[in-house]
Amino acid sequence: MSKNTSIRNSMRRARIATEIVISALIVGLGGYGIYNAVNKTTELGSADVSDASDIQIDMTQPVTEAFDPNMTIYENTPVSTKDKFKGDLILVNNQHEYLGGNEDLVSINNENKNQDEETFIVGNDFNMKILRCVYQPLISMTRDFNKATNYDDLVVIGGFRTTAKQQELYDADLESTGKDYSTKVAKPGHSEHESGYAMDFTTSTTWDYDGTGKYEWINKNCWQYGFILRYPEDKTEITEIQYEAWHYRYVGVPHAFYMYTNGLCLEEYIDTVREHPYDGEHISFTDGNNIEYEVYFVASDDSSEMTYIPVPSDKKYEISGNNIDGFIVTVYVNEEKAPAEATEPEAPTEEEPSEASTEAEGSVDDSDSETTTEEAEEETSQASEN
Ligand SMILES: [Zn+2]
Repeated sequence: MSKNTSIRNSMRRARIATEIVISALIVGLGGYGIYNAVNKTTELGSADVSDASDIQIDMTQPVTEAFDPNMTIYENTPVSTKDKFKGDLILVNNQHEYLGGNEDLVSINNENKNQDEETFIVGNDFNMKILRCVYQPLISMTRDFNKATNYDDLVVIGGFRTTAKQQELYDADLESTGKDYSTKVAKPGHSEHESGYAMDFTTSTTWDYDGTGKYEWINKNCWQYGFILRYPEDKTEITEIQYEAWHYRYVGVPHAFYMYTNGLCLEEYIDTVREHPYDGEHISFTDGNNIEYEVYFVASDDSSEMTYIPVPSDKKYEISGNNIDGFIVTVYVNEEKAPAEATEPEAPTEEEPSEASTEAEGSVDDSDSETTTEEAEEETSQASEN
């Protein structure tokens, strides 16, 4: 499938990303109207800028056919620059600290009680929490896993974890190995578990999850639900974390698909996206369900409170920070922007910088992030997790 995943030139002219004025010129001729999208840059210097002002009028075609569907019109949407530390695609590892907070968490077992259909995964206690936006994909994946294998023994043994809890696990690992670093437990502040995007699986039959046998179904299919196996066996030098068959991370379907089919770990994917900025070639691909995506990078404007992000004016898109130096825009090429999105406020508040980019935010429930004794006890039982 990776062979089908291609990066193609997405028909945009080179332009200066930070200074863009985009306008659409509508030409009406007799009974026909011809649309032409005209991209203007306020700074010259890009090779093809002269082409941008060409207006081609085809009098023989009605408007619907004359309009080039590949010509995307972009507009700038303002996002709080600090939101680069939030979103489905944040890279959290030894180099990049998790700076979030106010996670919108749910208890897996509590949420299971609210489901109409049967669920096939539990938290090992009621304090096992993950981000609200990760819960439904998890339930869908494990339901389909059950349909495919008849297995119903999956348990989440590691979910959201406070930094204090991470410190405890880290100290315990250093003590047991006598080393001054750990490849088993991420540094406090540097664990994906602190974000709520990660989960560790085990099984209630063996209390050991190695991802083999029938459980291989999960590794092959988890992208369909937006999950990746975060610490693969062949990427330990890049992730700096030992192979963890049980640790899954939510990143969203398009990105999970791309990483899975191209054999990339999250570190590599974030680098790959950075090589595809807005004003260059975008990553374009179609997933296994024939949904077409475009992905590109926009550097954060660290000198300003707000970063202006070029987004398609008429297509569905999502924005996520990468937790390092900018934002990743995901365009759903064949989906039109919902009407509600078109009337979005010009300057979103910090709580709501843009749609979908920071699902992790939302409502704040401080009581949820307290570590309980029960939780602490349960988590200590699995030492070999990040
Ligand atoms: Zn883990």
